[in-house]
Amino acid sequence: MHYHIQTAPIWDAYKTETDCPLCKIYADREKRVIGQYLNENVMDPDFRVRSNRVGFCKTHIKALYSGQNKLGLALQLETRADALDKLLSKPPADKKSAKKTAELLYKHYGCVVCDALEEPMSRYFITVAEMFENEPDFPELFGAAHHCIEHSIRLYDAAQYAGKSVNTFCATLTSSLKRDLRSTEKSLRSFADCFDFKNAGTRPDPQVIPDAVKLLNGIKVEL
Ligand SMILES: [Zn+2]
Ligand SMILES: [Zn+2]
Repeated sequence: MHYHIQTAPIWDAYKTETDCPLCKIYADREKRVIGQYLNENVMDPDFRVRSNRVGFCKTHIKALYSGQNKLGLALQLETRADALDKLLSKPPADKKSAKKTAELLYKHYGCVVCDALEEPMSRYFITVAEMFENEPDFPELFGAAHHCIEHSIRLYDAAQYAGKSVNTFCATLTSSLKRDLRSTEKSLRSFADCFDFKNAGTRPDPQVIPDAVKLLNGIKVEL
């Protein structure tokens, strides 16, 4: 069922994205989920229960804070603080109960946005592997794409869904990843060489480090 719904955004990302197509899909969905937590979900009891239970991670709280609904955010943080306060209703009195309190708090320290993205994203990796097997034009686009490390790991993890094409899927993923790692290594070497006194006067390309970070960390850093 998920297959046909998901192929359109995958085709679109693989055809148009010059960086990791799965980072693009993630960013689009992430934007939508952040929007929900700033708008319609703020007063929705189910969403509130979830955000009270695990809170927001450092990345997503920053995204929410830079949004346009400070009142909505304040209300969510207020009930989150209250939920944490209730968890501490019996303060630990010895080292064993301190450990238990830590375990309990760990269970309640996560991110509702990350959680909401995990389920649809894990389906996208499966669909990419299935498309490799089912769509004749897809393997070429897949091999030309620049997958970041995190999403390459997820694709290896989903390789079984490429069915009979699993070997070609893994070979294509590996050769494209090695191609990108080598070209990144080469660019970083040239960047570092510019600082050698023998190369005085040559200017390092400022784009080299942001490009390496996109591949290795899957994020865009400002120049
Ligand atoms: Zn990625
Ligand atoms: Zn998060």
